[in-house]
Amino acid sequence: MSRFWSQLVHQLTPYVPGEQPKIADLIKLNTNESPYGPSPRVLDAIREATSDDLRLYPDPQCLALKQALAEYSGLQTDHVFVGNGSDEVLALAFQAFFRQQPQPLLFPDITYSFYPVYCQLYEVDYQQPPLDAELNLNLEDYQQPNGGIIFPNPNAPTGKALPLEAIRQLLTKNPDSVVLVDEAYVDFGTESAAPLVKEFPNLLVTQTFSKSWALAGLRVGFALGSPELIEGLTRVKDSFNSYPLDRLALAGAQAALEDLDYYQQLSQKIIDSRTWLSEQLEKLGFKVPESKANFVFARTPEAVDAGQLASSLREKALLVRHFKKPKIDQYLRITLGTPEQNKKLIAVLKETLSL
Ligand SMILES: *Cc1c(COP(=O)(O)O)cnc(C)c1O
Repeated sequence: MSRFWSQLVHQLTPYVPGEQPKIADLIKLNTNESPYGPSPRVLDAIREATSDDLRLYPDPQCLALKQALAEYSGLQTDHVFVGNGSDEVLALAFQAFFRQQPQPLLFPDITYSFYPVYCQLYEVDYQQPPLDAELNLNLEDYQQPNGGIIFPNPNAPTGKALPLEAIRQLLTKNPDSVVLVDEAYVDFGTESAAPLVKEFPNLLVTQTFSKSWALAGLRVGFALGSPELIEGLTRVKDSFNSYPLDRLALAGAQAALEDLDYYQQLSQKIIDSRTWLSEQLEKLGFKVPESKANFVFARTPEAVDAGQLASSLREKALLVRHFKKPKIDQYLRITLGTPEQNKKLIAVLKETLSL
């Protein structure tokens, strides 16, 4: 607390990301990063961009990257917006579309916990229709008057995905609201809503280079939407920071889009690990709903407290994520690691649970 802070800053409860501790031989399965490195072409491109040109500002419009993303998504350049991680794109979207609405923004009670933080920061009123007992999102809950809708598909931290047809129906029923589909995990087996962008001017899709593209450290995210939504985001961005993406990030993200084969293989490896780990966890008595993400959300066996289990694993240099939240406090969110890391996790779990 400080007398120098504004009223609003006093009231904020900032988002707390998963920890990044400096522990030797740590197995880090807590922040949904890729266990594999980015394409070698990305590293080459960044090395090449590391030159005297760094004295120059980057392209404020990020045109080359937007063109590459338009081609990748089957859309035009004016359907694309890029930002410093998709968290920044989301923050700009909250400002551009969800502020000063007569009705509350809607998002699920169990979802990405950054959304309520942006609501506080931008003073957005919100309601959270609850997920059902199986942690499914019920789209009927989103047919009430609203000032916008946002949810991840697949949802975080449940990993459950909605089919494209359900998203189409939601858009049809909410023609006057911006519907933001946060596709941070879309590349691990969910159909993207991007093709609907040409049909629905109220749809905004966000994606990130942090997960499937193995570039969380580079900070690149993007949005796909109608030209009017993209222009709204650009107006806010240009009133805030002209250059959110630096030269190295632009070079790296562009190079990633030129090596799609590499990334398809990477995502397939994660999907294969997901099948393996889910089966192994179920053998140990965990309940593991089908995940479409690069993590599994596993309910601990009866009589095993999830919070305590997370602490025990941490003592053995294995980090997973536990949320102290009603409804999900007996679940662990476990990021898929390499096959060796996943095996190690199962071995340590067997030992910890004395199985
Ligand atoms: C990881 C994640 C993001 C943010 O990704 P960055 O691009 O790294 O900022 C956004 N939404 C969801 C649901 C995520 O899990």
